This record gives sequence, C-alpha cells and structure tokens, in this order.
Amino acid sequence: MKTPETTPAAEDKPTDFIREIVAADLASGRHAAVRTRFPPEPNGHLHIGHAKSICLNFGIAREFGGRCNLRMDDTNPSKEESSYVRAIIADVKWLIGGWADAQLAMANPESTEPFYTSDYFDPLHDFAVQLIEKGRAYVCDLTPADTEEYRGSPDRPGRESPYRDRPIAENLDFFARMKAGEFPDSSRTLRAKIDMTAPNMWLRDPVLYRIRHVEHHQAGSSWCIYPMYDFAHGLSDYIEGITHSVCTLEFEVHRPLYDWILQALELPRKLPHQYEFARLNLSYTVMSKRKLLQLVRDKLVKGWDDPRLPTISGMRRRGVPADALRRFAYTIGITKYNGVTDVAVLEHAIRQQLNRTAVRRLAVLRPIKLILTNLPDDYYEGLEAINNPEDPEAGQRALPFSRTLYIERDDFSETPPPKFFRLKPGGEVRLKYAYIIKCDDVIKDESGRIQEVRCTVDRESRSGLANANRKVKGTIHWVSAPHAIETEVRLYDRLFTSPDPDDEGDFLRHLNPNSLEIVTARAEPSLALLGAAATCQFERLGYFTLDPDSSPDHLVMNRTITLRDNWAKNG
Ligand code: ATP
Ligand code: MG
Repeated sequence: MKTPETTPAAEDKPTDFIREIVAADLASGRHAAVRTRFPPEPNGHLHIGHAKSICLNFGIAREFGGRCNLRMDDTNPSKEESSYVRAIIADVKWLIGGWADAQLAMANPESTEPFYTSDYFDPLHDFAVQLIEKGRAYVCDLTPADTEEYRGSPDRPGRESPYRDRPIAENLDFFARMKAGEFPDSSRTLRAKIDMTAPNMWLRDPVLYRIRHVEHHQAGSSWCIYPMYDFAHGLSDYIEGITHSVCTLEFEVHRPLYDWILQALELPRKLPHQYEFARLNLSYTVMSKRKLLQLVRDKLVKGWDDPRLPTISGMRRRGVPADALRRFAYTIGITKYNGVTDVAVLEHAIRQQLNRTAVRRLAVLRPIKLILTNLPDDYYEGLEAINNPEDPEAGQRALPFSRTLYIERDDFSETPPPKFFRLKPGGEVRLKYAYIIKCDDVIKDESGRIQEVRCTVDRESRSGLANANRKVKGTIHWVSAPHAIETEVRLYDRLFTSPDPDDEGDFLRHLNPNSLEIVTARAEPSLALLGAAATCQFERLGYFTLDPDSSPDHLVMNRTITLRDNWAKNG
C-alpha cells in the first residue's frame, strides 16, 4: 500500500492562468489565504469532467495551503435526491483521498460533512429582503411564458414588466406571502431590477426566487420558495468566504450578474471573484447529466456506476485508480479554450499507472484444453512467477503446473496465417514461466469443434534451465486446469462507436452494441488471494479488477483496460 502523500511533489504542482492569479493575489496580500469550492448539484453522479474541476479546486487549496469546500448546490429540489448527495461525497473522498493533506479538510474543518446551499436558505432569504428594501428587486406576477416573452432575445431588447415599479412595501408584503405559501407554483417570482435592454440577457431582470411547493431532500418542508442558481451561488461563495470561485466557461456570461448581486447588497466583507476555464470534453464520451440519466433510466447501462460510464463511480468500479484520474486532470491542464480531449489520453494515464502498480497473473479468457501427453496423470510441479517486473518489491508467487492446461482459443490455429508465432500443429511455443511445448495432435468432436490439443513438453526447457535459451518465436499464457479457478469476466469496450456521440441527432444511435461481453475465464489459484479493490494484469490480456458483484464462490472481474489501444488502428 502506498502511504498518502503529505505535500505535493514537484510534478504535482501544475501551472496555469488560474493558479497564476491565485499566486499573485496571495503575493500582493489581496487575500491572506485561498479558499475555493467545488459546487455540484446533487442531480446525478459526478463524471470525469467534474473530476477535472475537483482536481483544480482541491488542488489549488492543497498547493497554496488553503481550503476547498465541497458544497452541494441544492437549490432545485425537484431534480435532486439524497442518494446523489451520498454518491458525490463518496466520489470526492475517493478521488482526493490519496492527497489526504492535513490542511485540506474535505469541507467543514470540524467534520467530513459537506456544505449545503440549502443550509443558507435563511440568510439567502434575508439578502433577498435587503435587495427589495434597497429598491433593487421586485415581485413580478407575469406567467413564466410572459416572463420569457418580455425578456426579448439577444438581438431584440426586452420589455419591462408591468409590476416592475411596485412600491417597496408591497414587494415586501408579496414576498412574505410567497414564502408563507399563499400562492401556487410559478404564479409569482422575485426578480432583480437591472436593465431590460442590457445586451447581456442575464441582466434583463433575472428571476431570483420562484415558488415550488415541493419538499427539499435536505431542508425538509420548511420552504416553498427556492432561490435560483445565480442568486444563491455568489452569495453562498460570500457566506463561505470563498476567494476564487472557479467554474466553466458557460458561466462567463453570468459573471456580470454574479458581481451585480454582490455589489447591490453593499456587503461588508471582501467579495469573492469568479474565474472561468474550459470544461473537459472527451471523445467517444457523453458527459451531459441529462444524457447519463437517460442511459441509466432506460436501462441501457446497469446503473450510475456501470463501468462503461464516464462517471467517477463507474470508473472506480471498473478499476481505474484515483491516481490515474488525478494525473490525467493535471496532464490536460487548464485553459480558456474549449476543445475535445482524445479519450486515448485518459486511457494512457490509466495504463501507465496500472503498469507500475498491478501484480501480474495468468488467466485464460476463452479456454481450450491442452494435454501434455509425456507427463504422468498426476504430475504436479510448483513453478515460480514474478509478481511485477516493474516493481521488484512485489515479490514472487507459486504457480502450479500439471498435465492438463488451458490455453487461449486464439493462441492455437490449425490454419495459421503467415507470421503466426503461437501454437500450430507441429509447431513449438513457450508457456510463460514454464516449458517449451510442441503440438502433436488435435482432437475434435463430431461437429468439428476442437476438444483438446495434445502436446509434448520439453522437460529440459524450463525457464531458468540450461536448455531454456532454445529459440522459439512465441510465448503464450496458460493455467493448470485442475488448479484453475473459474471467474466471470466482464469485457468492456467503449460505450459509443463515434468519436462525437453528441453530434446532431439522437446520441443513442451511436451506442456500441458490443460494449459488454461476458466470458467464463479460468485463472491461476492465487487470484483468490487478491484483495477486494486490487487490480491485476492478466498477462497479454489487460488489467482486471474484482467487481462488487463477486462472492466467495463466484468471482466477477471487470476488465479495466486492455494492454494496448485497440482503437488506434481503426483511426
Ligand atoms: P448541470 O448543471 O447541467 O446539472 P453540470 O455538469 O454543470 O450539470 P454541476 O453539478 O453543476 O453539473 O457541476 C459542478 C461543477 O463542475 C461546476 O462548477 C461545473 O462548472 C463543473 N463541471 C461540470 N462539468 C464539467 C466538465 N465537463 N469539465 C470541467 N468542469 C465541469
Ligand atoms: Mg451546473
């Protein structure tokens, strides 16, 4: 087990324009300490795009000795659930767990609980009342459709609401009655009084509060008015003392509103500032929560943590190490330009990490039987195999060898193409960690299907013996049949066949019909000793991780990733 890092290593200290701003603000004394936040809305599971934002916000806190708040941005109870809240907490903890710096408390310094925007419903309401008192907000009786229609469009100015000049006392009275539950859903709103002709649509008297008679998963039934994102977000930042409020580029156009609300309230403390960076887009991947939810609801995948999804929970289940995701987030960097990152970059980060850490095991995914005819029936030999050539400390293990083996169906061919260096009639091949064998015969059933391959073993050729250097072109993997354990293996491929599944039209038409194949593999017995969360390399096949569906008498493994990029040759 690796011990958690306490301070970031040099390679773990990226630079980008946001970190430069933070460094400058600390150097100039504009802020004594940096405080960032990661504000997910609990309306779905987090995905790899969120991982980029988590690594940025928690990374900055860690590198500059500050703090990052995990804050549930829970202002829209009709789409949110407490199961999502729990999943988000688990995902964030897992992703940054390896960092475990003492100064980087998850959220509240006192506990591991996150912050909730809903905990600020009282102060947010008070801020709204203050805006009304200052003549900067009013209660509007327009229907949602009329509100939209009055807003105009980017090339056409909006029109002022007939309720815009309501006297302050009347606004206060109506807002109190909205809160008291006197009015039905959507019948009234509280709006900021800014400018209906502003070129920036977000400044055209945006809605600050709306009426929704629904229970809140966190706040219970105390509220029937809920604040809108733009109102709640900046003020939550202010309440928490956030210095740098970092979000994705789509919010750039919201920034004038973010600033307007904070300034209109004439607040006493230092104000937070919003900065924007380009979101992560990945080829062959959908990241919109709406689309992910559709895949889950329509049962096109097995749940939010399906290993084919780009969700953090899915990738964790698949066996992707948190280190690899953090390394990926740092590799792609932070810029202001939207683009698409090749999913191969992520896959490379995963392979690189697993190559260093994963122990090697032998397993056969699609077995055929192989008999070594020149060994006695009860032959047994305990061979030794190294656990990880990249890590001498990983040691060795015993590998049972016997007369009856399984090899991979693909590693034998009766009609081999040119340059086929695996097993063929009359040909020789080396069994990894063991002997050179020669194929003498093939036994088939009536339908012509291969039942077993019969070989003789060269007893002088064991790896390590004098005769072992004898040249044979191919080496194949194998397991001893009487010692093998059966394991269900789930082989995943990309969920979408198109590099841009989000193009025009229905994204579901790009679903890969072969994204999951299940086989019953045979593995060497030491696999049973592998710890629950451990990932191993099945030699020549890829990296595999135990799935939570496993039980002591039925192992289930996920293929985390193949050893090489099988898509590269397809362009
Ligand atoms: P939606 O608001 O449509 O539900 P969202 O992806 O914006 O979806 P949030 O929960 O609001 O989800 O996101 C939390 C934070 O993660 C925000 O600060 C957002 O900017 C950031 N984020 C979301 N998607 C990405 C992405 N693809 N790359 C980088 N950051 C992202
Ligand atoms: Mg959002």
